Amino acid sequence: MINSIYTNKEIFLRELISNASDAIDKLYYRSLTDRNVKLKKEDFKIDLGFNKDERTITVTDNGIGMNVEELEKNLGTIAESGTEMFRLENEKKKDIDVIGQFGVGFYSAFMVAKEIEVISKKYGEAKAYIWKSDGADGYTITEANYDSYGTKIILHLKDDTEEINYSEYLDQYKLETLVKKYSNYITYPIIMMKKTSKLKAGTKDEYEDVFEEETLNSMVPIWKKNKNEVSDDDYNHFYTDTYHDYEDPARVITSSVEGMTSYKSLMFIPNHAAYDYYTKEYEKGLALYSNGVLIMEKCEKLLPDYFSFVKGLVDSEDISLNISRETLQEDHQVELIAKSIEKKIKKELEEMLEEDREKYDNFFKNFGMQLKFGVYNNFGMNKDILKDLIMFYSSTEEKLVTLKEYVSRMKDAQDKIYYACGESIAKINTLPQVESIKDKGYEILYLTEYVDEFCLQVLMEYEGKKFANICSEDVNVDSEEEKKELEEKNKNNSEMFKEMLGFLKDDIKEIRYTNKLKNHPVCLSTKGNVSVEMEKVINAMPTDEKISSEKILEINESHPIAEKLENLYKNDKELLEEYTKILYAEARLIEGLPVENQSEISELICKVLSK
Ligand code: ADP
Repeated sequence: MINSIYTNKEIFLRELISNASDAIDKLYYRSLTDRNVKLKKEDFKIDLGFNKDERTITVTDNGIGMNVEELEKNLGTIAESGTEMFRLENEKKKDIDVIGQFGVGFYSAFMVAKEIEVISKKYGEAKAYIWKSDGADGYTITEANYDSYGTKIILHLKDDTEEINYSEYLDQYKLETLVKKYSNYITYPIIMMKKTSKLKAGTKDEYEDVFEEETLNSMVPIWKKNKNEVSDDDYNHFYTDTYHDYEDPARVITSSVEGMTSYKSLMFIPNHAAYDYYTKEYEKGLALYSNGVLIMEKCEKLLPDYFSFVKGLVDSEDISLNISRETLQEDHQVELIAKSIEKKIKKELEEMLEEDREKYDNFFKNFGMQLKFGVYNNFGMNKDILKDLIMFYSSTEEKLVTLKEYVSRMKDAQDKIYYACGESIAKINTLPQVESIKDKGYEILYLTEYVDEFCLQVLMEYEGKKFANICSEDVNVDSEEEKKELEEKNKNNSEMFKEMLGFLKDDIKEIRYTNKLKNHPVCLSTKGNVSVEMEKVINAMPTDEKISSEKILEINESHPIAEKLENLYKNDKELLEEYTKILYAEARLIEGLPVENQSEISELICKVLSK
C-alpha cells in the first residue's frame, strides 16, 4: 500500500537525513542556550551506513533523541496515519502527495523497508528504547542498550521483485549520489565509511581494502555563502555542472531577501537556448529548497512562462518541508517569492540591455521570441513588464532596437511608430511602401517573426505613440498640400476606378492613386485590423479559420502607367480590364500573396506583350 502512494522512492533518504538534521538543530540550540550542555557545532554529525549481507541501511545522528513518550507520540501516530493513507488510496486519490498531507516524512522509509528499527536515547536521559514496526501491523517499543544519545534508524530493505530492485540502495555510490542530490547542503556533515583500494604498505602491486571516513555533503550551499567569497568561476562551474551546459551562463543573478518572506536565490540566464527549449518537452522551473533541503527539483510556479529560460534555485526557511505540488499551488509564500523573483529577473535583463548590449543582442536572438509571446499571451496581461525588453530590427540603425530607443528618435511631427512586416529584412526592403517612408527620413521597425505583429497589436501603443503598419491605408507622411492634390486627382478619376473595381470582383475594396510609391507602379494596402501579414500567418495555420484582409489597390500617380490607364479608360475598356487584372496580380506578388488565377494572368501578360 505504501509503495503506490509515493512515486519517488529515493526521497526516503532525504526525509531521514532531514529529520536527523532537525534533531541535531534542537540539541545545538540547547547547547547555545543552556550552559550545562557542553557541545560545539563540530561535535555534530550524521552517519550513513549500509550492510549488503544484512540488507540494511542505517542513519545515525547525535541529536536530541527521543524518550519513550516521544517515540510513541511521534512515530506511533504515524503508523496510524498509515491506515489513513490506505483509506485515501482506496478512494483512488493516488496522486495526492501524502508527505504533504500528513507530514509523514519518516514513514516514507517504508517504501523501501519491510521493517524499521528506531533506537533512540534522549539527550540527558539514562534509558534508550527501540521502536520497531513493519509499517502495517502497529509497532512495539522496548528498552534497548545504546550508549550514546541521539537516534539510529535501521532500515531492513525489502526483497527485490521483478519490477523493483531495492538492492540498488545497498551501494556506496548510489547513496552518495542521493546525498549529493537531495541533502548536499545540510549544514552538518553526513559521513560514510567509504571503502577504497589502496596500495599495501611495503609492496609495489598489492592492494588492500581500507575504510576511510568521508563527508558526502558540501554543507554550505554556494547560494548561502557571501557573494564576495564566491568567484565568478565558482558560479560558472556550479552552473555548468548542475545544468549540464557546455557554455558559461550569460548572467548570474543572486539575491538575498529579508522581509515578509525571506529567501535566497541563485539564478542564471543561459547563453543559448537548450536544444529542447522550444519544444513541449522542456520543463521550466526553479529548484526549491527549504533551508538547504531540496523539496522540488523544478517548481514551475516560481517562473512565469516568459522567463522560462532562467535556471536556478530558491531557498527559503519560510517554505515548509512538507509542501507538495498540490499545496504549493495555493501557497502564499511561494506566490510572494515568485513575484519578487520576476522583478529581479526583469531588472537583470534591463541591466544587461543597458550595460552589455552585445550580450543582450545574443540573449534576444535566443529568447526574444519567448518575451514577445509573453507580451501577446493572456490578452497582454503582462505587456507592461515586458515592453521595454523586446526589440525589433530598425531600418535606420540596421540592428535590433528597443521601442524606447525608437521613440527617442522620432521626428517632431511624427505621431506613430512605423513598422513593416515580411519574411526577412531583404524582403521588407523590397516593399514599395518602404522606400518612400525611408526617403522622408522616418525609421521603420521590421517585423520578421510571425508573433511580431500580434505582439504590437496587443501593446497598442508605446509612450502614447500608436503603432502603424506602413502598408495600412491610413499611413500617410505627406504634407497637407500633397494630400489635397492627391485627393483632387482621385476624385477626378473616381469613375475610372469604379470601372476597374468591377473587373476585380469582390477581391478588393478600393482602387486609388497614391504618391507614396517613388518608382513602383502599384502596391496593396489594407484597411482595418487585419494586415496582409496576419492574413498569411493565420491562413497558414492548420485550422479551418481563414481570414482575409480588406485590401486597397494603390497606383502610383506619377508613374507612366497612370497616364496609360486614363487613356485606356477613354479609348479601350477591354484593354483596361486586362491591365487592371495584371496590375492587381503584380501587387499581390510583391506582398507575397498567392495569385489564384495564375493561368489567366500569364495568358493576359502574353496577350498584352504581343500587342
Ligand atoms: P516531520 O519531520 O515532518 O515532523 P516525520 O514523520 O518525519 O515528520 O517525523 C515525526 C517526528 O518524529 C518528528 O517531528 C520528530 O519529532 C521525530 N523524529 C523523527 N526522526 C527523528 C530523529 N532522527 N531524532 C529525533 N526525533 C525524530
